[in-house]
Amino acid sequence: MNPNPVDLHCHSRHSDGVLSVSELIKHAAAQQIQMLALTDHDTLAGIDEAQTLARGHEMLLIRGVEMSATWGSHTVHVLGLDIDLHTPELRRILADIQDLRGKRAEDIASKLERCGIADAMQHTVVEAGHSEITRTHFARMLVHQGHCKDLTQAFKRYLGQQGKRAYVKTQWPAMQTVIAAIHAANGQAVLAHPMSYKISSRQRRALVEEFAELGGNGIEVSAGGAQNPQNIKLAADLAREFGLCASQGSDLHDPIQRWLRFGRLMPIPEDLAPIWTQFRYQRAAA
Ligand code: AMP
Ligand code: MN
Ligand code: MN
Ligand code: MN
Repeated sequence: MNPNPVDLHCHSRHSDGVLSVSELIKHAAAQQIQMLALTDHDTLAGIDEAQTLARGHEMLLIRGVEMSATWGSHTVHVLGLDIDLHTPELRRILADIQDLRGKRAEDIASKLERCGIADAMQHTVVEAGHSEITRTHFARMLVHQGHCKDLTQAFKRYLGQQGKRAYVKTQWPAMQTVIAAIHAANGQAVLAHPMSYKISSRQRRALVEEFAELGGNGIEVSAGGAQNPQNIKLAADLAREFGLCASQGSDLHDPIQRWLRFGRLMPIPEDLAPIWTQFRYQRAAA
């Protein structure tokens, strides 16, 4: 038995994960995950297939998405969990974000070309296939073309943040707009990986406060990329202070990133309400 069989954040090849949907579901089943949310960046493309395949493993597939949003001058990620797929408001905003991603990709490629990286866009399109183009695809291209030794170096040198050689600032929809679209789709809005943003602790508190004021439902308390007792405590304190539910997710992109494996999450503190108590199948049972 997996002691912690819930994972509400992961990526497939429809965004920047390396596994196809079917490989991802198989991988999750092998780790004895019982409830899985597929949360690709700004696309719902993999959900129908994931849902069909999960049934064959008696796994509950939660329909999800990880949306890019702007808070002040910062990019933040908001998960929409337990969403309806056919809500026009949500689909419209996702289409807008996909357009922004396409335009940003062209700008990133131009900057890389100016750094002497030939055919940056063509090579990156090959990396991305039919998926949304993310910075991860640019990073993989830089590694595969021999410009960087690994993804970390690619982000550090070129892509990571304002000031890097190929960083392009993008005005994603406002956090408020994204939360409203998730609510229009009857979903739960969850602030992803709150401890991973490069902001001060005072700003982090202001971010979570505003997220709650805007009607946000929960924050990731146990988040794969930033798993340690200190971060869990700080995020749990913020959830308590602002009356938010707690979520947990590995943010799995690639199963070789062993620290982000499915089902290896530290549990969320017991006094916090898990976000999945708000999912519709739970509410119907209550
Ligand atoms: P994007 O949404 O296109 O701006 O790309 C953001 C994605 O890049 C994140 O979801 C991560 O998967 C990845 N990423 C960001 N920073 C790093 C990093 N330092 N190393 C590896 N991957 C990163
Ligand atoms: Mn990603
Ligand atoms: Mn994210
Ligand atoms: Mn993610």
